[in-house]
Amino acid sequence: MADGPMVVLSDESQRTSGEDARSMNLEAGRAVAETIRTTLGPRGMDKMLVDQGGNVVITNDGVTLLEEMDVDHPAADMIVDVATTQEEEVGDGTTSAVILAGALLANAEELLEQDIHPTSIVAGYRHAAETVTEVFEDIATEVDPDDTEVLEQVAGTAMTGKGAETAKDLLSSMVVSAVRAAVREDGTVDQDAVDVRQFYGASIDDSEFVDGILFDIEPVHQNMSRNLEDANVLVYEGDIEVSESEVGAEASVGDMTDLQGFVEREQSELADKVDKIVEAGADVVLADGGIDEYAAELLVENGITAFRRVDDDKRQRVAAATGAERVGDLKLLTSEHLGHAGSVHERVIRDVTVRRQADHESTVVFGDLPEEGVGTILLRGGTEHVLDEVERAVVDSIGVVSAAIEDGNVLPGGGAPEIEASLALREEADSVEGREQLAVEAFAEAFEDGPRTLAENAGHDAIDALVDMTARHDAGDVNVGIDADTGELVEMFEDGVVEPLRVKTTAVNSAVDASTMILRIDDVVSAGDLSVGGEDEEEGGAGGPPGGMGGMGGGMGGMM
Ligand code: ADP
Ligand code: MG
Repeated sequence: MADGPMVVLSDESQRTSGEDARSMNLEAGRAVAETIRTTLGPRGMDKMLVDQGGNVVITNDGVTLLEEMDVDHPAADMIVDVATTQEEEVGDGTTSAVILAGALLANAEELLEQDIHPTSIVAGYRHAAETVTEVFEDIATEVDPDDTEVLEQVAGTAMTGKGAETAKDLLSSMVVSAVRAAVREDGTVDQDAVDVRQFYGASIDDSEFVDGILFDIEPVHQNMSRNLEDANVLVYEGDIEVSESEVGAEASVGDMTDLQGFVEREQSELADKVDKIVEAGADVVLADGGIDEYAAELLVENGITAFRRVDDDKRQRVAAATGAERVGDLKLLTSEHLGHAGSVHERVIRDVTVRRQADHESTVVFGDLPEEGVGTILLRGGTEHVLDEVERAVVDSIGVVSAAIEDGNVLPGGGAPEIEASLALREEADSVEGREQLAVEAFAEAFEDGPRTLAENAGHDAIDALVDMTARHDAGDVNVGIDADTGELVEMFEDGVVEPLRVKTTAVNSAVDASTMILRIDDVVSAGDLSVGGEDEEEGGAGGPPGGMGGMGGGMGGMM
């Protein structure tokens, strides 16, 4: 061991350095972006993913696809993170962000081949990202939270291509109502206040916005009222059962008199608890824990409707919306703790296929609530795949409408901002010194990948579209983009294709962060096999896609 390098790695681990490491990472990252390319835009295709258990997901949603794909190459993972970040921050634009990251990596690869140092590329990309952000802010249009038309366009744009099209107008208007109701005093949107629920059967057009909280569990007793007005609501963090210590005494029960006394003690304990609830004046009780049968009967006698084992999320929502203060100990309960609901009523919604354990034959709606801004978007649809995809579209849509309201600015869609920024970057590049200049140009080119893909996926000539769009933008038509349905270049605000500024700026930032992070890596030390192109045989080997897709194992097997 005298003259060899000191060994710090185990035999199993692999080490790849310098150019090899970089090109392996670039390739893995690009491969991920490539897989979701065809889904971009309203005319994008869907993908069907089949996992090893045979479960099928059909989607057009970037982040869903990437998450389902079970990517297991670390660099590829960073690209998946781009989508995840985008999803968390705005809820839409995941495919665009990943496509941009892929294009940035591809163009970086070319620069590396020309012996441009990664550091220069990173600096150029960072510079370009700043320029782009400025351009986007410059061309953004202000939007008023009361401007229903534009907000519905924002909602609709996020839904396109996701099987929600037939009911786009209806869903968009529901989303805007729901989000608008959830705007808080400080101008932020409380997205948690908007619940999205699926009910099978009927068609998407039968979806509706319910101004209240939907509660798909039954009261604990058959004879409890499901229709109440002006109800005082108790949100209770405990159970109405006999306490543990009493139950433990059972073992020592000997003769009948003892048993009698034992039962009486139990019943009086329960009666005490119910009394507290009655004294406080509650009409409806949501309990975290169970409710004893005897206690349920006492509650019925007192005209109280009670629900047991209500999950935390529901208790939280009802508490917030009714103004109830959660109570942990009934001994401390006063009327002050109760919330209020103008109405609690039953709605029968037939849920025809029983996919989940619960068959929501009927549901209780808490309505006329004092705290504004809770609403439920009730989605109907014939099959689970359709309904799941519509739900994803609606959730994306809630995200973008929220962003548009919170930030108050929007951009045209259809590739318009990308072309505008790309032009600005080419101009900017002239003033950038040295090799960084090439990176800024590479960024400009990468940015055209989005509009190109939009045109391609819609079946139009991508080169023509790019040339024409660039000419129009050069002439000052800032808002001109491609109409994916007709292939025509149109003014996007008139066409109703509108996106919040945040979707675009977040996409640029996360794509740049991920690609520059990958570029800076020049050494990969790994505990397992990471070679790009090699299939991971042990892990399923379900016939993943051929060549170049190394590192994407298992879940990808059934992609069509
Ligand atoms: P992402 O996951 O990035 O949101 P999408 O498949 O939703 O991917 O596609 C978004 C892109 O499609 C955006 O560039 C958006 O402007 C564009 N787009 C949406 N609707 C239209 C339309 N009707 N015409 C042209 N472009 C559209
Ligand atoms: Mg989208």
